[in-house]
Amino acid sequence: MNKTVICPGSFDPVTLGHLDIITRASKLFDRVLVAVLVNSSKTPTFSTAERIELLRDAVSGLDNVEIVSFEGLLAEYCKNCGVDTIVKGLRAVSDFEYEFQMALANKKLNPDLETMFLTADADSTFLSSSMVREIGSMGGDISNFVPACVHDRIIAKLRK
Ligand code: ADP
Repeated sequence: MNKTVICPGSFDPVTLGHLDIITRASKLFDRVLVAVLVNSSKTPTFSTAERIELLRDAVSGLDNVEIVSFEGLLAEYCKNCGVDTIVKGLRAVSDFEYEFQMALANKKLNPDLETMFLTADADSTFLSSSMVREIGSMGGDISNFVPACVHDRIIAKLRK
């Protein structure tokens, strides 16, 4: 069976935590779509085009990973592209309640849709895009938090 899964998120910007989940999913499944959420009611720090470009560079070594973007309901997007499995990273107990709720809601909206969770790597359980934005914009060192190939571009944007 040729299995495609989707890894959704804001990726504002991509972190080593995201990259860990995407890399592990790419080893488990034939094809991984990394889906960047375009949320018109929220203004992200990095534009959709920037988030996509940073992700593309971060996953350039992974042949079976593609970057896409979607607006609106993830359950609808999955249905439209024929994907029945969402793969997400689970960091801590604090992620659990929200993710559990989202997984159940998505299943109600699209009963064929399953959500699978990979436990975050021990080194990145604390890591989030908002932490990267905060530390980076205040002049802190984020080199252990983001992929090396996109580090300078993230810093340039955050310190503008
Ligand atoms: P963030 O909370 O960093 O803004 P996103 O909305 O972009 O995250 O998250 C996209 C996906 O990546 C989610 O499944 C989220 O749980 C996962 N994720 C985010 N940060 C990490 C991390 N440090 N380790 C593992 N998974 C993560």
